[in-house]
Amino acid sequence: MTKSFASSADLTDKQARIEVLAPGVYARTAEGDPNVGAIEGEDFLVCFEALATPAAAEEWLTALRELTDKPVRHLVLSHYHAVRVLGAAAFGAAEIIAHELTRDLIAERGQQDWESEYGRMPRLFKHPETIPGLTWPTVTFSDRLVIPLGGERGDLVLQYCGRGHTEGDVVAWLPQQRILFAGDLVEAQAALYTGDAFHHDWMGPTLDRVAALGADQLVGGRGEVVTGDGVAAAVAQTRHFLSEMVRCVREVHDRQGSLKEAFDATHAALSPDYGHWPIFEHTLPFDVSRVWDELSGVERPVIWTAERDRSVWDQLQG
Ligand SMILES: [Zn+2]
Repeated sequence: MTKSFASSADLTDKQARIEVLAPGVYARTAEGDPNVGAIEGEDFLVCFEALATPAAAEEWLTALRELTDKPVRHLVLSHYHAVRVLGAAAFGAAEIIAHELTRDLIAERGQQDWESEYGRMPRLFKHPETIPGLTWPTVTFSDRLVIPLGGERGDLVLQYCGRGHTEGDVVAWLPQQRILFAGDLVEAQAALYTGDAFHHDWMGPTLDRVAALGADQLVGGRGEVVTGDGVAAAVAQTRHFLSEMVRCVREVHDRQGSLKEAFDATHAALSPDYGHWPIFEHTLPFDVSRVWDELSGVERPVIWTAERDRSVWDQLQG
């Protein structure tokens, strides 16, 4: 049976759910679709992630408005991927904040990434004509940026933990509430996308730093909010997915086998644990391709274009 390209045949809407994690701290999950969040300051809001289009973001903001009518002062983007950033115009934020490397990546490959992600996951691009263009961060940082929330609310700490899912991922950490918005650096029972990743950094020091924050509640890039022991389990699962993938691909790479053999070996090894998770079949060819490049000494991820997506897909899943 031929598999449909990436998530192009996944056209059934997911049910979104908003949870109040602490007073003024909100997470919206959607059965494996990208998660978003919002944090209240005394007289302003910080939103975390922007979804794929302004129309998609508008649905989230309409629901959020039932809980708070404070204006969005800051929109934080965890990384540059289109389904996380292109809805930014809906927020009317005074500041769009991202890591400085995220801004560079948008300049270097934002347009190609937009076209690639639109082809892979068309359902997420609700009313794509509402996207006014690329999203440009207006404030960038390299290591850490602290937003005081005012009153008794404590701080929101935006932290770079090292290269991981992309070159410039940041997490949003509420030390007082011990709540972490981890972006795509951690997934809870959803497959990882690693086509733009730095696997060795990610599964090593970067996840160590994420874990060291000691969150009681964690909102990953996709999947449900996890709490208590579930936090360590989600980090461990993310690490296991990465290390298994690297182990399988390395074995084939070392014996000078082919990329297709590496894909088949990885698919066989990961399917029992992860095959039923959202986007597993979609992401695996792109993931294995990037692991292969990394093991071949390709330092930075090769830019994904709509054409390259199809050619890697046909080679590995066709
Ligand atoms: Zn991503």
